Amino acid sequence: MSGKNVTEVVPADAEGIAKAVRILALGGIVAVPTETVYGLAARADKAEAVAKIYAAKGRPDFNPLIVHVRDVDQAKRFGEFDGASEDVAGGEWPGPLTLVVPVADNAPIARAVTAGLPSIALRVPNHAVMRAVLEKCDFPLAAPSANRSGFISPTSAAHVKASLDGRIDLILDGGATQAGLESTILAIRADGTWQVLRPGPVSEAYLAETYFGGRSASGAELNAKLEAPGQLASHYAPGKPVRLNAIEPRADEFMIGFGAVSGDCMLSEHSLEEAAARLYDCLHQSAASAKPRIAVAPIPNDGVGAAINDRLSRAAAD
Ligand code: AMP
Ligand code: MG
Repeated sequence: MSGKNVTEVVPADAEGIAKAVRILALGGIVAVPTETVYGLAARADKAEAVAKIYAAKGRPDFNPLIVHVRDVDQAKRFGEFDGASEDVAGGEWPGPLTLVVPVADNAPIARAVTAGLPSIALRVPNHAVMRAVLEKCDFPLAAPSANRSGFISPTSAAHVKASLDGRIDLILDGGATQAGLESTILAIRADGTWQVLRPGPVSEAYLAETYFGGRSASGAELNAKLEAPGQLASHYAPGKPVRLNAIEPRADEFMIGFGAVSGDCMLSEHSLEEAAARLYDCLHQSAASAKPRIAVAPIPNDGVGAAINDRLSRAAAD
């Protein structure tokens, strides 16, 4: 199992999914495609299984994990929902939105999953493969991105293999992921206040408008760092200096282009959604290139652009 040098990659067909479910039930760790990025899944109710995620990723253990469930009913066994969180869950699930809510009393969850916090992060993913796996598991799955901690998130089975080969039990290959960026994380608190802890495919402006009567987030007095301790400044690192808002590459730079600014890897000529879906692939290419530095074109901050800029600023932080 996790000690082997080579990790098997299998197609995400019925046979592959059945194999993944068997490994997960026994407490193993499996990379599974979701609509955001590939996740590294383990059963969230067993401490030994969850510990394997931290070991394989080299993830700091103060960094809690998102728990993936098959539907709202299953989510309610683990988190306390109120009117606001029910509305958001009802409207956005399945989808790329994670809800942080108070953890339910006696929730059958390994302590390491919440890192001892009084809250739990829950999501119903919208990807046929991850959903098929969850349908067949009678336990929820903790699943952070399937990469070594601090490095670029994987949007293909090949990315997972390059990062975690020999450290995990199986990779389910379901092709390239759709959204390409990690889920938006939204905290809703018992006092009715809310806050986006991590920008993502579902924008803050849309959430404010749709669920909070246009009220803006009211978390200013709260310490988002404490609430979402995993949001480290340096993250998604390609291992080379990254220069943002570049209009033209210098001679030693691999250029990531957008819009009218062309590049060695093009995010998109006009679509921020396409740019989000391609971001990590371009970052992987830039990391693998012979050029020692990376430059990235300006990205507008509208909609999912805010999430792209969040990830880019972390990739550029040292
Ligand atoms: P990921 O690395 O995509 O698995 O996202 C995990 C992030 O979700 C963590 O770094 C936290 O910021 C956030 N998170 C997970 N669990 C919790 C929790 N119980 N309370 C607050 N934030 C959480
Ligand atoms: Mg990650």
